[in-house]
Amino acid sequence: MPNKIKSFVWRSCQNILPTKSNLYRKQVINSEVCELCDKSCETTSHVLLHSDFATSVWEACGLVIGRECTFEDLFWKLGNDSRPSAMDLTNLMAVSWNIWNNRNGIRHGEKPKTVASLILEATRFVTEYQSLQDYPISSANSLPTRWNPPTTGVYKANVDHAIFRDKSTAGVGVLLWDDKG
Ligand SMILES: [Zn+2]
Repeated sequence: MPNKIKSFVWRSCQNILPTKSNLYRKQVINSEVCELCDKSCETTSHVLLHSDFATSVWEACGLVIGRECTFEDLFWKLGNDSRPSAMDLTNLMAVSWNIWNNRNGIRHGEKPKTVASLILEATRFVTEYQSLQDYPISSANSLPTRWNPPTTGVYKANVDHAIFRDKSTAGVGVLLWDDKG
């Protein structure tokens, strides 16, 4: 996944996202109440997992998340569970990232996304990103006489692929590659 998403996931697991609860704790703001529902403190777990909206998103993805589960718990549980699960880590990262962006967008006056449009956007992102990963590998296999040094972006993609190899979905990415990447 791109570094900005990995950084977001890392900050979520460390509980250092600029949620209202975290800003309140640092005395930057004087209320930690979630502005979207007006009934809970806006912690990382609330925004990403347990708010009504987040709960609906995860249920639509096939995950039922216990009330006590933190983002870090969920991330490590999915990452270390060898049994097939409703979701792989790549999709978990993309969906969480979209939930956070949706929250930020609403705070900046943008229209809230629906559960379906948020999941669709996250799924599209993963498909396009994986097609970028698969492209250089497949082209190297089919054109053995030519070799081009990978660009920085490709190198990063390969590193990601190695880290999450066992959880990555097999790609048919080359067919989905288009001019938008
Ligand atoms: Zn809320």
